[in-house]
Amino acid sequence: MDLKIFDRMESEVRGYIRSFPVVFNKAKGSLLFDETGREYVDFFSGAGTLNYGHNNPVLKQKMIEYLETDGLVHSLDMATCAKQTFLETVDRVLLKPRNWEYKLQFTGPTGTNAVEAALKLARQVKGRSNIISFTHGFHGVSGGSLAVTANEKFRRAAGVALANTTFMPFDGYFGPDVDTIVYLEKMLDDASSGLDLPAAIIVETVQGEGGVNVASWRWLKELEKLCRRYDMLLIVDDIQVGCGRTGNFFSFETAGIRPDIITLSKSLSGFGLPMSLVLIKPELDIWKPGAHSGTFRGNNLAFVTAAQTLDSYWAKDDFARNTIRKERLVRDWLENIVHSFPGADLSVRGRGLIQGLVFEGRPELANKVVKKAFGHGLVIETSGARDEVLKILPALTIEDEILIRGLEIIERSVTEVLKNQGINAQVLKFGGIRK
Ligand code: PLP
Repeated sequence: MDLKIFDRMESEVRGYIRSFPVVFNKAKGSLLFDETGREYVDFFSGAGTLNYGHNNPVLKQKMIEYLETDGLVHSLDMATCAKQTFLETVDRVLLKPRNWEYKLQFTGPTGTNAVEAALKLARQVKGRSNIISFTHGFHGVSGGSLAVTANEKFRRAAGVALANTTFMPFDGYFGPDVDTIVYLEKMLDDASSGLDLPAAIIVETVQGEGGVNVASWRWLKELEKLCRRYDMLLIVDDIQVGCGRTGNFFSFETAGIRPDIITLSKSLSGFGLPMSLVLIKPELDIWKPGAHSGTFRGNNLAFVTAAQTLDSYWAKDDFARNTIRKERLVRDWLENIVHSFPGADLSVRGRGLIQGLVFEGRPELANKVVKKAFGHGLVIETSGARDEVLKILPALTIEDEILIRGLEIIERSVTEVLKNQGINAQVLKFGGIRK
């Protein structure tokens, strides 16, 4: 396939094209097609942006109808009918049923814009500069968000000191026997620990880019308690694992916590259109009019598809149940792979339809599996500090048959990569490797 124009004209900064070196032409549901018509199963979902698949027909139809009426596309932050419908739908489908009140701030189009706004507001509210974030956390690559992002590769690219943040160990950072909340509490409790009292703590409930690290419900509950006790705001960055990725619409719901600020983006529009949102407890909404701006705040096409997404998938509660059913299928399959290769130091972790197959001892093998899988027609990526985690991120709407097809490709690719390393599948008594 001819990638010459991309190589010649596009900056060296390009990334995913290197993992998937073909020219994509079409996409439908959970399938991608390159320019030759070759089909790929999508277990990447635009890094969590396509929870409802590519070109979802219901959303596409809504958008076409809207365009045919000459509805506004761009409107800065003026009032439009599309925004009105979106606000009403958020209230009816997300907030009222949970008995929650949040103000909505529309920021620039991409996730990091929401994080920047959330951090800025938290600092204003508390009149403090420090923010606590966590080891292996990822919140975006613009200045403020990068300062709370842990990944060394991204931080090094900043070229300036990234200040006013303190990193604390995420849940499980020192293994299952160390409770990192106890450490954080001690640091906060000791006035001479050297930790400047933060305005806020920003956290992902499952670290998507950081290696599919899952915070336990208990840990999240304790984290909220610390925020209350020490007068810090709790910001949940639900950009990657919100919008139903882990089951419920918000990833933290089962923990029973109520963040002060929530950031959403990626799958919010449902169609892959750029859209970011900050949910703010009403009493914290101390913004002065126009104090935080941006030309592309609130894309009306995204309002149209986002409102339809909420109505189509979230007005009833069966969608979350179906995600959990698919989680079990994926989990079973991956655990079977792990058990089939006892010598390979593999493990599985995740929540809902974000699952990671972890190549702990041999991180380089995860990328080999990505390459093999692509050759077999599966688009999938790695995450984690050493790219050691094969990240399984299918659309929530994926058909069982396509989900199984993708899992079969993973199993085949892992088997081939490990075989090349001299590690063969062991046939286990309870069934052995799936055929
Ligand atoms: N926050 C989280 C949790 C993310 O996963 C990401 C992107 O992967 C971001 C923020 C940044 O979003 P964007 O890349 O759209 O700026």
